[in-house]
Amino acid sequence: MLFDTHAHVNFNTYKEDSDEVIRRALDSGVWMINVGSQYSTSKRAVEMAERYKEGVYAAIGLHPLHLETGLVKIKDDPEEIQFKTVEEEFDYEKYKELAKSPKVVAIGEIGFDYYWKPKTKTKLGLFKEKQEATILRQIDLAQELDLPVIFHCRMAHDDLIEILNTRYNPDAQKGSGLRPPTLSVGASEDTKLNGVIHCFTGNWEQAQKYMDMGFYLAFNGLIFKMNLDDVIKKIPLDRLLIETDCPYLTPSPIEGRNEPAYVKYVAEKIAEIKGSSYEDVAKITVQNARKLFKI
Ligand SMILES: [Zn+2]
Repeated sequence: MLFDTHAHVNFNTYKEDSDEVIRRALDSGVWMINVGSQYSTSKRAVEMAERYKEGVYAAIGLHPLHLETGLVKIKDDPEEIQFKTVEEEFDYEKYKELAKSPKVVAIGEIGFDYYWKPKTKTKLGLFKEKQEATILRQIDLAQELDLPVIFHCRMAHDDLIEILNTRYNPDAQKGSGLRPPTLSVGASEDTKLNGVIHCFTGNWEQAQKYMDMGFYLAFNGLIFKMNLDDVIKKIPLDRLLIETDCPYLTPSPIEGRNEPAYVKYVAEKIAEIKGSSYEDVAKITVQNARKLFKI
């Protein structure tokens, strides 16, 4: 068995064959979490998960690229949109209502994305503030519901580490963390946050900081394209998750649209890089996923 902890079969590109894609995965022993990126795709992930007795779960959240900032123009992604991509303000109560489904196992994907960003310093400051405020609201929801968080982070690891460490890391609050707290928010044991940094592409120093805070790091088909071998070698298997991020990032042995069944290629590549057996990678990453997402 394998666990694709980050899939998007809830996206538009699968609208004709989502059930076949899911069936192919389940028949080959692959379970999955379909991850929302805005309200419409989150809702669809939940509806999809509810159609299956087991093996298909949902995460709900507002991705930073869908956040209404009024500061950058972001292109529509025709593979992703369920209806029409709308820039959205995070609506706490609407997402909370969605989370009533027992199939919702995480809040995500949420985070920072600085790929498209405003040019001027003032606008950039506002842009980052808006993303941060939206992350914090969604973490509030995760904590109210006792759910882990799936983080998306592109070109922004230091900022994400900073807010997680200062606000949610009890050790840092006691003064033993990597960074001293700069914000006087009263983090305590009960504000401890669980989660995963999906599609991790940071360096070893950043990986260590996330792991010190108890987070998992997830890898996908990008490991065939980017050389992340040194980082992957050093991350213990019990902190690692695998995913496809389908329809994107198809693992190299395959061409075209990605899907959850192909997570086996990611597991094979991780085993090769770490010099572990495929069976160990499969077994331990499934255990990790079931523990984090309480499945
Ligand atoms: Zn994703």
